[in-house]
Amino acid sequence: MAAKVNNEECTGCGICVDECPATAIELKNDKAKVDEAECTECGTCVDSCPNSAITME
Ligand code: SF4
Repeated sequence: MAAKVNNEECTGCGICVDECPATAIELKNDKAKVDEAECTECGTCVDSCPNSAITME
């Protein structure tokens, strides 16, 4: 399991990049991208995204 970004919903605002305590998210081509090896599945990004673009799968 890891955080998964819905590219249709992501606006590239970068909030999740700043909020992720594991620094597992970066912006690539203006979309959030999760490094699954770094993701600890804490769910912080799920709660921080204003567009509900991240889910835990
Ligand atoms: Fe995209 Fe949501 Fe992250 Fe903003 S917080 S970059 S909209 S996934």
